[in-house]
Amino acid sequence: MNYHGFLSSFPRTYVGRGPADRPDVCLTFDDGPGDATPVLLETLRQLEVKATFFCLGDAARRHPDQIHAIVADGHDLGSHGLSHLDLRQLSSDAFGHGQVIPSIRVIEDIAGQSVRLFRPPYGEISAPQVQWLEDAGYTLVGWSIDPQDWADPMATGHVERVVGEVLRHVHPGAIVLLHDGDDDDVDRRSISDVVEGLVSPLRKKGFHFIGVEDMLERRIPAP
Ligand SMILES: [Zn+2]
Repeated sequence: MNYHGFLSSFPRTYVGRGPADRPDVCLTFDDGPGDATPVLLETLRQLEVKATFFCLGDAARRHPDQIHAIVADGHDLGSHGLSHLDLRQLSSDAFGHGQVIPSIRVIEDIAGQSVRLFRPPYGEISAPQVQWLEDAGYTLVGWSIDPQDWADPMATGHVERVVGEVLRHVHPGAIVLLHDGDDDDVDRRSISDVVEGLVSPLRKKGFHFIGVEDMLERRIPAP
């Protein structure tokens, strides 16, 4: 989403990657929770990988047990809006009070913890909306690697293609965009195989898996 040139005007609020001098990688999962989430969580548990989930408010309402599991497993939580709509045409007020706050409230009420990370559907956002997030104290999270795992996830060779894309582009401070949601009724259970394929080669390259909240702490120099 860093194709929005104005994002560079919001260095306090927008994060699209972490520090380049630390071998950290964030795996982020959008659009869930969904049918793929339980197996994905089990895979992350077995591999001892911490991740970040950008959940839809509507999906959180349908799968509160999965929100509880995400929290219990120690992953970071963010909001991806209420439903999966391009929000750019909304005024900053309608964006903030009609979408961001309600979606965060849904997730917070289920999770029992505060949420301050927001990633808009499709990564689409207007400059006034980013300003609203900044004024309200939320963090806008983008990504630095998009292996297009959402495309045709049950196709032959899909897992190898997505893993290969990430390994080709990985860099210190990478934020990887992945999906575990049920949008378009697509079976996304291959996301667990993608994670299994990624973790060992990335660890061999010396990378550590951290949550976006950890990355933010490392990004901001101590006073
Ligand atoms: Zn999405």
